[in-house]
This record gives sequence, C-alpha cells and structure tokens, in this order.
Amino acid sequence: MAQIIDGKMVAAFVKGNAADEVKVLKEKGIDVCLAVILVGNDPASTVYVANKRKDCDQLNIVSKEYALPETTTMEELLNLIDELNNDKDVHGILCQLPLPRHLDENKVLNAISPVKDVDAFHPENVGRIMMGKYDFLPCTPAGIMEMLKYYNIDAQGKNCVVIGRSNIVGKPMAMLMLHANATVTICHSKTKNLAHICKTADILIAAVGRADFVTADMVKEGAVVIDVGINRNENGKLCGDVKFEEVSKIASMITPVPGGVGPMTRAMLMCNTVTAAKKQNGI
Ligand code: NDP
Repeated sequence: MAQIIDGKMVAAFVKGNAADEVKVLKEKGIDVCLAVILVGNDPASTVYVANKRKDCDQLNIVSKEYALPETTTMEELLNLIDELNNDKDVHGILCQLPLPRHLDENKVLNAISPVKDVDAFHPENVGRIMMGKYDFLPCTPAGIMEMLKYYNIDAQGKNCVVIGRSNIVGKPMAMLMLHANATVTICHSKTKNLAHICKTADILIAAVGRADFVTADMVKEGAVVIDVGINRNENGKLCGDVKFEEVSKIASMITPVPGGVGPMTRAMLMCNTVTAAKKQNGI
C-alpha cells in the first residue's frame, strides 16, 4: 500500500514558515498585504476567495478584498488594478479566475504588475519560469515541488509524466520537473498510447480534470503519483483524477483528494505574497 503524501501537513509546515517571515517583516514595519479581486458571483470563486481570506488571517497577512459586480467593465477593472499596482501598502494582487465572459482575461493578467503577480500568470513571470530565474511560481506546481522536497523525492534522472498542458498547471509543472533534472513527457487530449506512456513514469502527475481518469493499469509499480484534479464523481463526492483505491495498491507514494495538492496551492499563495513583500522592500 502506498504511503500517503499528506498535503495538509506539508501545507501547515510551509504556512508556519511563512507566518514566521510575516512576523519578522512586521517587526521591520512592513505589514504584508494581499489584494484579491473577485468579479461576479461564481460560487466556486466565492469559496476560493473566502479560503484565501482565512489563510491570510491565520498568517497575519492583511487581506484586502474587492468584490465587484458582474457588470464591471474592463476599464473599471483595469483602473482598480492600476490603483493597486501603485499602492505601496499592497504587495500581492490576485484576480480570481474565471472572469465573466465580457472581460478579457489576458489583458487583466497582463495589467497586474509582475512584481505583485502572486499567481505568476503574467507573461514576464511565465518567461522567467522557462529560464529558471524566477521570484514567483504558479501556486499549484510550486506546492507540488514543495511536497516532493518535504518527502525527499528526488526527481533527478527520473521519468516524469505530466498529464495536462494548461498554462496554470501542466506546462509550468513540466518545466519545474525539467529544472529538477527529470526527463519529462507532457500528455494531453491528443496523445496516443497515453496508458503506455504513463506506465513509464517514476513520477506521474495528473492534471486532467476528469474523475478516475488514471487507473491502476496506467501506473508503474512503485511510482509516485500526484493527483491535481478536483472533480465530483457521480455521487457528488469530491475526487481527483486518479482512481485512488486501486492506484494506491501499486504506487509507492500518492496524494489524496482532498488533502493533497489543494492545501499546498493555498499555502504557496501565502508564500508568494511574503516573497513579494520582501522583494518590494529590498529584502
Ligand atoms: P484544464 O482543463 O485547463 O486542462 C486540462 C488538461 O487535461 C488539458 O491540457 C487537456 O488536454 C488534458 N486532457 C483532457 N482530457 C484528456 C484526455 N482524455 N487525455 C489526456 N489529456 C486530457 O485544467 P487545469 O489544468 O486548470 O486543471 C486540471 C485539474 O486540476 C482540474 O480538475 C482542476 O480543477 C484541478 N486543479 C486543482 C488545483 C489544486 O489546487 N488542487 C489547482 C488548479 C487546478 P488538451 O490541452 O489537449 O485539451
């Protein structure tokens, strides 16, 4: 039976370190501050924003929330971002996605100052990740790297297969594993022989968004399996992309859903906010 990679525990450890840094910064007269913009009433986004507020409260990070109506115009949103970019007391800015359809997501992400871009979605930060010279990493891949580090899982020379190539998870994840000297394969919806490729993985990372997508026959004996997916199964139960019951009998280590990658994503946002505050104050 696979060892469970406990995301909640690692997240608590990471948040504890971030809280210590927040305290040190406070002693220097710096109140670490995260501004979160929410446009509209998407229920999932509302929950995510509430969770970010909770995390900020827990770490003594000042949380500024801007809940804008669904009808907000591009100009209004860009004006707010501009204001926050120029506010010295705000260190991190996050615009909760998805945005209502009439708003141009790319333009919004490009408008956030790269030094306050705690989601690391700005093209400048994306480019820096490619080059391996970054201040911020997108929270989910960064959280996975932290978990691997915590459990002493060395990627060097290992075969890593990432299923999914989104800009927020799959692509940056693959890049980080490459920086960690893994041999990386990225799979997507047009990949042929997916099961066969997955079976070559020493480290298999699933970021597909389909319940029970990764089955035991796709996993190599002893592989480390990281499940990024957040899905609801036919009974409405929260589940990942990996068929946990059967895959955990084959893998050596596995992340559960819930309690795996999710808590790490939240923790890394706090770390990025602390990093932003330090950078902006020359620390
Ligand atoms: P996207 O929908 O943007 O990307 C999904 C990827 O999976 C795409 O690259 C797609 O390929 C690929 N894919 C879809 N179907 C198949 C298939 N049949 N075979 C192979 N590949 C396939 O999702 P995200 O990357 O944003 O998120 C992935 C999952 O992770 C979701 O469940 C999301 O909720 C979850 N998530 C969890 C987080 C956490 O903190 N735990 C944070 C962020 C996301 P193609 O490009 O060809 O379409």
